Amino acid sequence: MKLSTRILLGMVAGIAVGVLLRPLADGPDSFAAALGAWLVDTAFEVGGSIFVASLKLMVVPLLFVSLVNGASAMGASARMGRIAGKTLALYLVTTGIAITLALLLANLIDPGLGVGLEGEVDFDPAAAPSAKEVLIGIFPSNPVQAMAEGNMLQVIVFSLLMGIALAHSGPAGEPAREVFRSFNEVIMAMVTLLMHLAPYGVFCLLAKLFAELGFSAILDLGKYFGTVLLVLAIHGSLTYGLLLWLVARRSPLTFLRNVRPALLFGFSTASSNATMPVTLNVAEQRLGIDNRVASFTVPLGATMNMDGTAIMQGVATVFIAQAYGLDISMGGYLAVILTATLASIGAAGVPGVGLITLALVLEQVGLPVEGIALIVGIDRLLDMARTAVNVCGDCTVSTLVASSEGLLDDKLFAEVSDRDRYVADP
Ligand code: ASP
Repeated sequence: MKLSTRILLGMVAGIAVGVLLRPLADGPDSFAAALGAWLVDTAFEVGGSIFVASLKLMVVPLLFVSLVNGASAMGASARMGRIAGKTLALYLVTTGIAITLALLLANLIDPGLGVGLEGEVDFDPAAAPSAKEVLIGIFPSNPVQAMAEGNMLQVIVFSLLMGIALAHSGPAGEPAREVFRSFNEVIMAMVTLLMHLAPYGVFCLLAKLFAELGFSAILDLGKYFGTVLLVLAIHGSLTYGLLLWLVARRSPLTFLRNVRPALLFGFSTASSNATMPVTLNVAEQRLGIDNRVASFTVPLGATMNMDGTAIMQGVATVFIAQAYGLDISMGGYLAVILTATLASIGAAGVPGVGLITLALVLEQVGLPVEGIALIVGIDRLLDMARTAVNVCGDCTVSTLVASSEGLLDDKLFAEVSDRDRYVADP
């Protein structure tokens, strides 16, 4: 069976087991309740945590080695600047489109009308970094510390510098270049190995989540929940589909078939960062994107391109304003678009971070930050869905950039994924 099919089965089985465990844990049979609690709090927690840790463990080494390799292969040519420029511009434009769509649709659907605020709302937002701090924070003073802390933007800057230096170092640098080339293969093989844990890991993550999830909260906020999902679906299919079709002249359906594993990982882990090794693997092996492009666009996207997050923030802003009976002016909407787009740059792709930067957006337009308390309860499921869109956006932009540079392998892209490329050929 193909790996993506097994992951899908793991997801479905996890959701089913989680949902079935709920009545068991609350039921009258104390043995069954104890067993249910043990499964959820111990067995699934251990399995899920090991899975996420095994993904995260690869992020820094993979990012470092792959990007040094890509940058050194490209040298300090003008091409590199062009790729960087196109990538940044596309990331910003797609996020801008995402939030605009979210604001438009949310205003049509009015998810917050009729939501009374009688209940206690109490929320203490974590401080979001300012633009100045974000800018300074991109430049590392100590690469080892940047890696130890998993600061992706800093590691990206250091790796780019190292790769360019390698390209400049002439024959003396060749052994070092060779080491990075070789290590790149080794780490890709490691990703392949660990991906075989995925069906079990995904099963544990989802079983635990669904055993603990409060469904009644979702029903109460059904309109908000549905609006976010609707805009995510529209952006994920139409915006990306049209860009791929009209700009890159590639089939969106083939694209979708190829990116599926990355979307499944994004959905299950709710973290673009943890999914990064899989996204890179998918970009290079299944979409046929050259390492020189993917090694730059994918890690950068995992950190700063969050269309799904921006969509949630757009809908949430309108929802909270309506729930409090407040109006947002035209200038306010522009501020939301700008802040949400920029906020996604500073936020790392980890679970729940979108809610933290939402505080920044709300403050910007003078809406009560406590309003976040309204949606916190159902955020995890939406986090999963929007992370899948975030990852899809990274892959779309990578495909657009690679295709415009002639660095997309059409044979790999077009090949229907009937064989599992993760299984290394013996
Ligand atoms: N979990 C999202 C991601 O990793 C970020 C967020 O929206 O909270 O991409």
